[in-house]
Amino acid sequence: MQVVSSVSEFQRLCLDLRCSGQITALVPTMGYFHDGHLSLMRWARENADTVLVSLFVNPSQFGPNEDLDRYPRDIERDKALAREEGVDVVFMPREDDIYRPGHDTWVDVPGLSTFLCGQSRPHFFRGVCTIVCKLLTMALPCKAVFGQKDWQQMVVVTRMVGDLNLPVEIVGRPTVREDDGLAMSSRNAYLTERERSQAAHIHAGLQKVQEWVQAGEKQTSSLKKRLMDYYAQHVPSGRIDYVHFVHPWELTPREHVEKEILVAVAVHVGSARLIDNMLVQG
Ligand code: AMP
Repeated sequence: MQVVSSVSEFQRLCLDLRCSGQITALVPTMGYFHDGHLSLMRWARENADTVLVSLFVNPSQFGPNEDLDRYPRDIERDKALAREEGVDVVFMPREDDIYRPGHDTWVDVPGLSTFLCGQSRPHFFRGVCTIVCKLLTMALPCKAVFGQKDWQQMVVVTRMVGDLNLPVEIVGRPTVREDDGLAMSSRNAYLTERERSQAAHIHAGLQKVQEWVQAGEKQTSSLKKRLMDYYAQHVPSGRIDYVHFVHPWELTPREHVEKEILVAVAVHVGSARLIDNMLVQG
């Protein structure tokens, strides 16, 4: 496994790979790997000749009062895990090589970025789109793999790639969960034991929504109320950022559950802001 930190070296390497006809897959990450990250690498290993993993805690997607400084990091462990998954190249750029002095070019998908997480994190998707666009144009991968845990990110990146005619296939992979249903996340490391046990109910609540829909409740306002009540009871240390029922790809609110609807939630538990979602069938 090669570990590359120079942008120009990474670009040369990836250009050679693409020119030699290799199928390459890129997995963009911010590190502190868990099984969610590893599942994306595994998919890439099975579906590409060369697996590229980027590891960069991207400052431009954090707001001024967010957790950039304390975002968990363990680079040696990450490298060992990536090696075990058969990753070919880990790209760990320096911040000042990505955002050079005077950097002033941003990629924005303003429509889709205003819904859901965009409301409480107004600069988030501009930061995400800019770094993902940079990584895609540096790595020139045939495929780029994203987790459905960050559903909105996958939707926004898919739109960006379409709008910019970037020659890459965006692949979304299912959310990997702990045994009790909590979506794996690097930020779960912030939870105390008590918060951790409550956090499992975030997913349990989403499963309840599917049950309520199956039992005949189709109005999203009623479903939202029931889910908020469920969280008030089972996640008492939680503070709900949002609960939304939206079209899965347009992210616009829906009043009724028709064929398929995305239920997306963000909940602050202790000092962690946790997100989760579920596609509910009508
Ligand atoms: P991050 O390091 O949090 O930026 O995540 C890097 C990639 O891993 C993103 O595409 C995430 O959506 C994906 N990811 C994070 N958590 C999970 C999970 N629990 N299951 C599947 N993919 C995940």
